[in-house]
Amino acid sequence: MAKLPEFLKMDCYVGGAWVAAGSAERLDVVDPATGESLGSVPRMGASDTQAAIAAAQAAHEDWSGRTAGDRARVLNAWASAMRDHAEDLAQLMTLEQGKPLSEARVEVEYAASFFSWFAEEGRRLYGDIIPSHRQDARILVTRNSLGVVGGITPWNFPSAMVTRKAAPALAAGNCMVLKPAEATPLSALAIASLADMVGVPPGVFNVVTGGREDAPVIGKAMIDSPLVRKIGFTGSTAVGKQLMRDCAGDLTKVSLELGGNAAFIVFEDADFDAALEGVQICKFRNAGQTCIAANRILVQESIHDSFVAALTAKAEQIRVGHGLDAGVSQGPLIDTRGLEKVELLVADALEKGATIHTGGARHAAGGTYYQPTILTGVTSAMDISHQEVFGPVAAIGSFRDEAEAIAMANDTPYGLAGYFYSRDVGRIFRVADALKTGIVGVNTGLISTEVAPFGGVKESGIGREGSKYGIEDWTELKYICLAGLGAVA
Ligand code: NAP
Repeated sequence: MAKLPEFLKMDCYVGGAWVAAGSAERLDVVDPATGESLGSVPRMGASDTQAAIAAAQAAHEDWSGRTAGDRARVLNAWASAMRDHAEDLAQLMTLEQGKPLSEARVEVEYAASFFSWFAEEGRRLYGDIIPSHRQDARILVTRNSLGVVGGITPWNFPSAMVTRKAAPALAAGNCMVLKPAEATPLSALAIASLADMVGVPPGVFNVVTGGREDAPVIGKAMIDSPLVRKIGFTGSTAVGKQLMRDCAGDLTKVSLELGGNAAFIVFEDADFDAALEGVQICKFRNAGQTCIAANRILVQESIHDSFVAALTAKAEQIRVGHGLDAGVSQGPLIDTRGLEKVELLVADALEKGATIHTGGARHAAGGTYYQPTILTGVTSAMDISHQEVFGPVAAIGSFRDEAEAIAMANDTPYGLAGYFYSRDVGRIFRVADALKTGIVGVNTGLISTEVAPFGGVKESGIGREGSKYGIEDWTELKYICLAGLGAVA
């Protein structure tokens, strides 16, 4: 087993200090590939969270009062530290989350890119001067930090989901209390260790960890605090809705990056090989555990059989195993609950008439490994068409024409990402316009970058992360009416 990074500390990071829970209780963190313990982290409760909020509040005046350039220097140093320790961070991520090391390396760079990007975006948080309604007045509009903000993140991208929130929040002058997922607290704590190393001021970034039962307690402590002015959440739609209801109490701002149900449409005029490569990445990356995974693959009737045959051959080449082993391209699922959900969805699809071309069962490697699976004959009568699979199962259906493909793709309350492959320029514009999603990938299955706005419509969320838009959600506008200036003589 790879060594854990020397700079990793397994306590919570609050006010620049490494602290245990008031209750002294701890939670085991395990390698999902082996079930072996990697160590333990504190099980924080309400009073621990309140202490972290107080630390963030104490740091806010100084941090928000600094120039954007000063904050940029700190964030750029943090990005450099992540890049300098990229291999350590990637190995740690593979150990606690299970994704292949090659994917973990890509995620670490993606995560660091948010610090680099928002360090600069913070310097461009421009205001406005608005033509005034009075001769003796000037109207100024400024963008200001909110104060203390909370971040709650999932396990499937243990580093990038942290920095995609922390970077814009801190660049805009806020101070953050972050709660990472129960399954993957170590990547977040490693990022906190690097913050400590590069001199992020105490209290500006705080991490509180806890288990599944602690999450609602920590979340409630954040939301109930009058000091916390925003919750940025990435996770399931069910929890996102609950948090939004809770935030209504004192009108805490929310941004929500929630679940998806992406359609991946392959038209008969597509570049066949490019579509095949795109769907492979989009479906099987992170063992299918991504919110933008191809959840429903829709292939035009005329090319359906040849596409299924080619994808089946590709799926059979996927090497399943521990993410640290050379050549492995698919790791385990995160836990038994995830595995059982995949099994239930496949069983339901088979019962309702789907056909298995390869896979369809647990993998011989044991544990939470599942075989790369190709299912065809998938229809809207099946649960797999409506729920996130979060597993390596390609659920394929077919369609006759463009109108039917669009109708099928939009037949979901979710609206995060949608993909299609076509070489017809008219169709490209028509379908991109028609898909009711926040993100559209045309002739690509890879759409994540720090420079573009990531987020969904409908029940996939509210707000955008990344890009020049991603910082706005972490600010409040202030209008200053400067009167009494006198009229021009
Ligand atoms: P989850 O169960 O909703 O958990 C997400 C985070 O919320 C975890 O830190 C969790 O803590 C915490 N949490 C759970 N219940 C809470 C509560 N009542 N109050 C406060 N916090 C609470 O989701 P998940 O299973 O970890 O992640 C998978 C989901 O995230 C999928 O639906 C996926 O599509 C979505 N996702 C969306 C995006 C996006 O950008 N739209 C990106 C990645 C993932 P514990 O882990 O301790 O339970």
